[in-house]
Amino acid sequence: MSSAKTTILVTGGAGYIGSHTVLALKQAGYEVIVLDNLVYGHQDLVEKVLQVELIIGDISDRSLLDNLFQNRNITAVMHFSAYAYVGESVKEPAKYYNNNVVATLNLLEAMQAAGINKFVFSSTCATYGVPDVVPITEEHPQNPINPYGATKLMVERILADFDVAYNLKSVRFRYFNAAGADPEGRLGEDHTPETHLIPLVIFTALGKRDSISIFGNDYPTPDGTCIRDYIHVTDLADAHVLGLEYLLKGGNSEVFNLGNGHGFSVKKVIETTKQVTGKDIKIVECDRRPGDPPVLIGSAKKATTILGWQPQYSSLEDIIAHAWQWHQKRHN
Ligand code: UDP
Repeated sequence: MSSAKTTILVTGGAGYIGSHTVLALKQAGYEVIVLDNLVYGHQDLVEKVLQVELIIGDISDRSLLDNLFQNRNITAVMHFSAYAYVGESVKEPAKYYNNNVVATLNLLEAMQAAGINKFVFSSTCATYGVPDVVPITEEHPQNPINPYGATKLMVERILADFDVAYNLKSVRFRYFNAAGADPEGRLGEDHTPETHLIPLVIFTALGKRDSISIFGNDYPTPDGTCIRDYIHVTDLADAHVLGLEYLLKGGNSEVFNLGNGHGFSVKKVIETTKQVTGKDIKIVECDRRPGDPPVLIGSAKKATTILGWQPQYSSLEDIIAHAWQWHQKRHN
């Protein structure tokens, strides 16, 4: 074991964005410990693909955290573990407030007790609610329209207060629509249930679904369908490494949007998937999905300026091609 390496605890490292970040951390030379309760995470991904230590446990377990922080030389925590289904959060808010807020508070208190004061947090553009103006900058008011977004905003506020009171330094990333897969095909998106547009369009191309539903064709957008800013998961992962390094160099707490700064409609995503896969994709036009803002596009100029972040895979074709490669491998 290389004791000289800096050790990072990654909660939720067995999930989609977490696992891609673990890979990026490993490639950047960090020692990684994953803590994941495997409710949605994948054990094999951590142990066999990433070949990183996995602790199966929950961030609500204070004695587990105390033991971990006492016995391992952990310098910083990256916190991905959370529930993230918007619709479910509306129906079961208690589940979301407990896991995303109460359990995160437990993690932060354990860090404070152990004197660990560097934290990278997965927040979301859902904290903005329906934007007044796009591209959205970090100064845009935050008025989440669902409990999921509210839980993430609450943690952002907790982090601001913990910085003032306990000197806990955090980088809070507000992601736009994470998509794609590791360009080398080692990792990808594997949600059960899957609700996201790009994987569902790909399932349709693969013949795993008969059709893709378009949720609303009467939005005030050029083709009537919602516009989103899709950001490659590997670019997100790279931003996390930069955010960590910013904190390790003594940076102050900051919040950064992570998006590409341009948006694509649902119809454009389906069209591009047809082109990338060469498959026909049957469309069913449906009612709007409650809680969907018409347009979400993020300005990530701040991350570019302060962190030096430059997305490598900003084309929709690349994002879909990498996702397609991953799903073909899994389903064949
Ligand atoms: N969407 C859709 N059909 C689907 C899934 C999603 O039309 O089967 C739309 C959804 O209404 C939104 C966009 O695709 O406008 C992106 O949705 P997704 O669930 O991927 O991400 P979200 O924007 O909710 O984070």
